[in-house]
Amino acid sequence: MPTQDQPEPKVVNKNAPELILVNKKVRLTREYEPSDLTKARGVTLRAPAALALDKMLSAAGEAGIGDIRAVSGYRSYATQDAVHSAKIERLRPEYKDGAELEAEKLVAPPGASEHQTGLAVDLSIASYMERDYVLNYDFADTKAGRWLKENSWRYGFVLRYAEEKEAQTGFSYEPWHYRYVGAEHAQSMYEAKVCLEEYLAEK
Ligand code: ZN
Repeated sequence: MPTQDQPEPKVVNKNAPELILVNKKVRLTREYEPSDLTKARGVTLRAPAALALDKMLSAAGEAGIGDIRAVSGYRSYATQDAVHSAKIERLRPEYKDGAELEAEKLVAPPGASEHQTGLAVDLSIASYMERDYVLNYDFADTKAGRWLKENSWRYGFVLRYAEEKEAQTGFSYEPWHYRYVGAEHAQSMYEAKVCLEEYLAEK
């Protein structure tokens, strides 16, 4: 919950809090936690994103796209810290002193993950979940991955870390990671083929 002594995260446009920018350069504080977290499809998200996710996955079901599953939504600073630290320790034997740097390519450090905003969701498909092959690059070429890439904007989501935007976002390509920005902004970003960093720079 926001309190008086807790700094608010950078909101580029006060009329559009869903455009909050979080990346390795612009980080959230340890205390930041959205106040309207709710559950949808088995994950926790901010209320507007939860509603939109539910609509999007219902539409995918009706379109015969198959069983898209939400894998991960809101993550607290502490949870991200734990995931990040665990990754470093797993890489330590191989990378020694370079383990931190290597881990950062694969897992956002705490404060730099937009999962902490409650506006990001990782998606997969039922058959991957059964095989414990949850988040992987093959998702891009599944019926679900292709449908999401072309239709998510209708529900306010954008593919946040596109393959051709790695330099701008500072993150490796993630075909499973979708970010809620609201339908109007999502449509503009989709049509202009720009990532959030580029979109906000134009505003
Ligand atoms: Zn993600």
